[in-house]
Amino acid sequence: MNNKNSIGFIGLGVMGFPMASNLLHAGKELVVFDINLEQAAQLPFQERVTIADSKEELAKQVDIVLLMLPNSPHVKEAITGDDGLIESLSAGALIIDMSSISSTVTKEINEELEGKNIDMIDAPVSGGQTGAVHGTLTFMVGGKKGNYDQALDLLQIMGGKIIHCGEVGSGQTVKIVNQLMSAVNLVSMSEGFTLGVKGGVDPEIMREVILNGSGKCWALEDRMPVILDRDFDPGFTVDLHTKDISLALEVGKDLQVPLYATSLVHELFKTLQAKGEGGKDNAAVITLYEALAEIEVVKRNKAVSQ
Ligand code: NAD
Repeated sequence: MNNKNSIGFIGLGVMGFPMASNLLHAGKELVVFDINLEQAAQLPFQERVTIADSKEELAKQVDIVLLMLPNSPHVKEAITGDDGLIESLSAGALIIDMSSISSTVTKEINEELEGKNIDMIDAPVSGGQTGAVHGTLTFMVGGKKGNYDQALDLLQIMGGKIIHCGEVGSGQTVKIVNQLMSAVNLVSMSEGFTLGVKGGVDPEIMREVILNGSGKCWALEDRMPVILDRDFDPGFTVDLHTKDISLALEVGKDLQVPLYATSLVHELFKTLQAKGEGGKDNAAVITLYEALAEIEVVKRNKAVSQ
């Protein structure tokens, strides 16, 4: 295999594994690295997969590296830490960071890379594991337009919508704003529905009305069915959403922007974590309100049969 035709891929977790699989299905050659290498051996088309023992070994074989890691410290460590990519990638290489991390940290890493003539774009995603499996993710990309154009073919294999948001860090900023809004949205709906059910209204009737009213929102469309079915298996976990809300607060601090609602919502999510419920679906935030009001937002027929 001509290795410089290969693409580096670091982070084969819940998201990274199906995304890497889609690249292989599209005929790409990959050099992969993960601190847990068990997953790498499960990738399809093994004849086009090289499993690297280190980031250094990976970096020597590729000019484009995709990252799908948990959070800012992991990305920082992978790029600018000991034996990081910055040490072994050639000048002119491109790093595409698809993880959801701090926009401030992204800009700091990019500044260090500029000194070595290595390009970077941030390309966090929305669409969850289902979008990763089906190749329908939305990518929000920050970086030079030329680098966006260079990455487009690859991102289109993994995603359905690829949007250039501006300079480096802009993709992370948009992702953080989205996560902040969805968390506040979820809590506002939880508060409202707890009040409504305590007031004696059938939650399904309330949902039908508000889907046609100004309270209509993603949480009501997407999360309320989960709540009504009392199905709090994830989905998108409380732990991951709390991580994203923390990123919003960090960036709010960096930019000196007060985030009142986000701060309150962060405490509510942390309360679930303190109760040992960080692994539940984020819709479980409503249970905090339900416990205080001593009701459950549940389908009426289900409530009667219980
Ligand atoms: P994950 O924890 O399942 O996977 C992370 C992978 O990175 C793991 O395989 C881990 O072994 C590996 N890893 C950790 N540190 C490493 C290091 N230093 N070097 C090499 N490998 C390392 O996480 P995930 O759910 O795949 O999420 C990845 C990113 O995507 C996160 O930033 C997350 O917020 C974001 N995201 C997740 C979802 C989702 O629904 N899971 C949706 C949208 C965005």
